[in-house]
Amino acid sequence: ATVIVAIDGPSGTGKSSTSKAVAAQLGLSYLDTGAQYRAITWWMVTNGIDIDDPSAIAAVAGKPEIISGTDPSAPTITVDGTDVAAAIRTQDVTSKVSAVSAVPEVRARITELQRSIAADAGNGIVVEGRDIGTTVLPDADLKIFLTASPEARAARRSGELKNADVQATREALLKRDAADSSRKTSPLAKADDAVEVDTSDLTLQQVIECVVTLVEE
Ligand code: C5P
Repeated sequence: ATVIVAIDGPSGTGKSSTSKAVAAQLGLSYLDTGAQYRAITWWMVTNGIDIDDPSAIAAVAGKPEIISGTDPSAPTITVDGTDVAAAIRTQDVTSKVSAVSAVPEVRARITELQRSIAADAGNGIVVEGRDIGTTVLPDADLKIFLTASPEARAARRSGELKNADVQATREALLKRDAADSSRKTSPLAKADDAVEVDTSDLTLQQVIECVVTLVEE
């Protein structure tokens, strides 16, 4: 049987590491939906679209072809055939992604892509994001909502970025989460039937075990 797992939550909660490991352990595909929003943002920036103009973004939302590779041990992402895995992680893209992903035409386009990838995944798939359990895959077999204290999240993200400035990282992260939580179309939110896991005091291994156990139940 195919199994669909939705893992949502803000940044710095261990969402990506957990989702990839759970998918690998269970032989499932893996989809990083944040990478798709980053990819469309990268395309907007590269093509000189005014990020402060939602109607300009909406007008070209259908143009870039975004392809996600769903092997959890080697996920890939391309835009019009170009590998953008590194380019989508820059601070410039990170600071602009919330504005681009708030545009309804962008969300409609990316949501459709996500649903078709999930429908095509053979054994099933772990899909990580912000609105997977609420909007993209409301019929998922298991929904997880990961949380963590702002301190734990900023510390993790600073470690990943090899960035000593925990304070600046914390501010940028909280600002992005506030924007993602307050947009009108499918904001960052916990689905009513999601299991909430606070990862602040858990190791990555403990979070992975917790989610694998929930899938197997
Ligand atoms: O997960 P990641 O931090 O890479 O996501 C980048 C951004 O993409 C988020 O801050 C959010 O603006 C957007 N996003 C979204 N909906 C999703 C996944 C990501 O709006 N399902």
